[in-house]
Amino acid sequence: MQKLPNTKRLRTIIIMMTLFAVMTITLILPQMLDQYFNKVASSGSASPVSEHALKLHATLLIVDLHADSLLWNRDLLARNNRGHVDVPRLIEGNVALQAFTIVTKVPSRVQLEHNNADSDDVTLLAIAQCWPPVTWNNLLQRAIYQADKLVQFAKNSKGKLTVIRTATELRSYLEKRKKNAGCTAGIIGVEGAHALEGNLDNVDVLFDHGIRMMAPTHFFDNDIGSSAHGLVDRGLTDKGKEMIRRMQQKGMVVDVAHASIGVINDVIAMAGKPVVVSHTGVKGTCNNVRNLSDEQLKGIAKTGGVIGIGYWRTAVCGDDAKAIAGAIKYTAKLAGVEHVALGSDFDGTVTMPFDASGLVALTQALMDEGFSDNDIRLIMGENSLRVWEELLPE
Ligand SMILES: [Zn+2]
Repeated sequence: MQKLPNTKRLRTIIIMMTLFAVMTITLILPQMLDQYFNKVASSGSASPVSEHALKLHATLLIVDLHADSLLWNRDLLARNNRGHVDVPRLIEGNVALQAFTIVTKVPSRVQLEHNNADSDDVTLLAIAQCWPPVTWNNLLQRAIYQADKLVQFAKNSKGKLTVIRTATELRSYLEKRKKNAGCTAGIIGVEGAHALEGNLDNVDVLFDHGIRMMAPTHFFDNDIGSSAHGLVDRGLTDKGKEMIRRMQQKGMVVDVAHASIGVINDVIAMAGKPVVVSHTGVKGTCNNVRNLSDEQLKGIAKTGGVIGIGYWRTAVCGDDAKAIAGAIKYTAKLAGVEHVALGSDFDGTVTMPFDASGLVALTQALMDEGFSDNDIRLIMGENSLRVWEELLPE
């Protein structure tokens, strides 16, 4: 009979095995989650791309208003085989400017309608991905952590990634890019002003960490306003109105993605400056509570803002570039082509028809819908650039 290990040895073995299990989980689990939630559909960009589309695409200034890439433990400076965005794939896709939007709280089993704020899956994700403990129960710290991550990537990128904070930086980056398109830039946004942890002075804190766009709400109602997916639509609160004023004074873009009808109306009524929808679909081609009505599209266009059309199924009721181009066409007809933009929702726990490197499929789909080269230029990025140039601080 084999000799039984003594208690001390047994304890050491258990500790070693536990440590091994924890290390394996913390190394592999984040990658598994990223891979599982952010897929590329195999059929999405299957249509052939013409020579004309390739040539035109190479000359575009492409801007995408929404990607949740900072939520995942992914080295954005390396080319990854999971998720949708990293610097090499942005450069391959000829993306000039990518908005990196920060998620700080998502209810468990999130629905399209009637979510409350009682649960939060981002806490689990933060712990599973070994984010600093300070982020585990503080939404402001989660926003700061993710924003600082992008700034750090930019510092280590040898000039391939620039974080844009001012109109001056944007202009000088675009000048530099004229000579060498082998680089890209990021701008930082936040989904849901619950990231302020109830304190409007934290608008300044987010601004100081480079954040230049924020949506009042995400998947649930908060002290700033109501969500399209919340319980009761009370519009913007007084505190919410004060937040919009402070954001606009500082040169931050107000994003009404995920906002309730009341919040969208309130923001439009008080805006005085262009309002943006960073990622959405339109009821005209895909009718659900998440997507914008004709009236809302017209209201946003009236502010001089842009509507970023998303690429995922709930936004466009389809899985391919044609469905995205269809929503873009509807929006352009209704609101004017100068108010349409891209808002992919890359890395937002959605399956995409292509990743950032495959954007030429969208240029082709827009050509197939009959858009002129000039219209495609506007839609793919120049409309968004117009708004950033106008709103960012000097
Ligand atoms: Zn979103």
